[in-house]
Amino acid sequence: MLELPVRPQGAELIRTVGLTRHFRLGGFLSRRFLHAVDDIDLSIHEDEIVALVGESGSGKSTIARLIAMVYKPTAGEIYHRGRPLATVRSRREVLEYRGHVPMVFQDPYGSLSPVYRVSHGIMRALKLHRADLSRRGREEEAQRLLEAVGLVPAVDFLGKYPYQLSGGQRQRIGFAQALACRPELILADEPVSMLDVSVRIGVLNLMASLRRRERISFLYITHDIASARYVADRLVVMYAGQVAESGPVEDVLAHPKHPYTQLLLSAVPDPRAPVSLPATGEVQEPPRVIDPGEGCRFRARCPYAIDECSRVTPRLRLLRPAHDAACHVATSDLVAPAPTERTDKDASLR
Ligand code: SF4
Repeated sequence: MLELPVRPQGAELIRTVGLTRHFRLGGFLSRRFLHAVDDIDLSIHEDEIVALVGESGSGKSTIARLIAMVYKPTAGEIYHRGRPLATVRSRREVLEYRGHVPMVFQDPYGSLSPVYRVSHGIMRALKLHRADLSRRGREEEAQRLLEAVGLVPAVDFLGKYPYQLSGGQRQRIGFAQALACRPELILADEPVSMLDVSVRIGVLNLMASLRRRERISFLYITHDIASARYVADRLVVMYAGQVAESGPVEDVLAHPKHPYTQLLLSAVPDPRAPVSLPATGEVQEPPRVIDPGEGCRFRARCPYAIDECSRVTPRLRLLRPAHDAACHVATSDLVAPAPTERTDKDASLR
């Protein structure tokens, strides 16, 4: 059997099973539903960065908001360290959970209130989530957090207003606020997409160093497969509300199995030279998935579609070690182990 080194995983932090979220379109009596997310099985472990990659409207942010308890699932379940989130109900429990799993948002310009100094949001988060700290302790911790995200001298930044900061500095403030909750997993929803290219690498390095130094895991949501490769351990490729492919990041990029992943890679200007893949379809926005029937949602754009693709929804299949894809025609690189001959010893054990 083909064997690849698979990064050892820590304990499981989050698991989603059959996670589904539909939004009703039109009035209350309407029977039309947007299938934002359908039947997602996903896991995130300690000390791991998982990148959720796909085009706008593919369901990535909906998954983050479901895990953050902003939305309720239409079906399926989310487990936090084995506990169903459906059982997290009281205000205190929800606050505690959101401290463990905070979000950092895409827009560094809109996520901070322009009327408050930087210190306000961090001190507020510390007050909510660090009841063990005195006022003096919170002030010291706020400085430590700003230093942890690379904003020094911290005292200067605490007194600044958002308009006095660059986009990259504001995004670092967002991470500092998340750190104030003592998180184990940060849901980073397109944290670099609105930043200048030269600033993005600094924020990605910050995520990598927070994982290394503070042992924080990340769900990194992005449409940029190159940045996912730079920072993530595992890649989950989404298309039209479903997982198309997932696996160790280098393996998925080196051996993309799903035609959509191949399309994404062919659309990126040289994400990992020297590989060059032919374009396998037209790059477009993914469809809005309204009451889809059975069949592969990528079939209208897929050059490899066969009859079965319009009748049967493909399920994820293991095609390489820890690497699976949902495609009827994708081939497996796994070889079934040859049956072993029974020995006299086996016979004696029967
Ligand atoms: Fe293409 Fe069919 Fe595979 Fe879907 S299941 S990606 S339509 S070949």
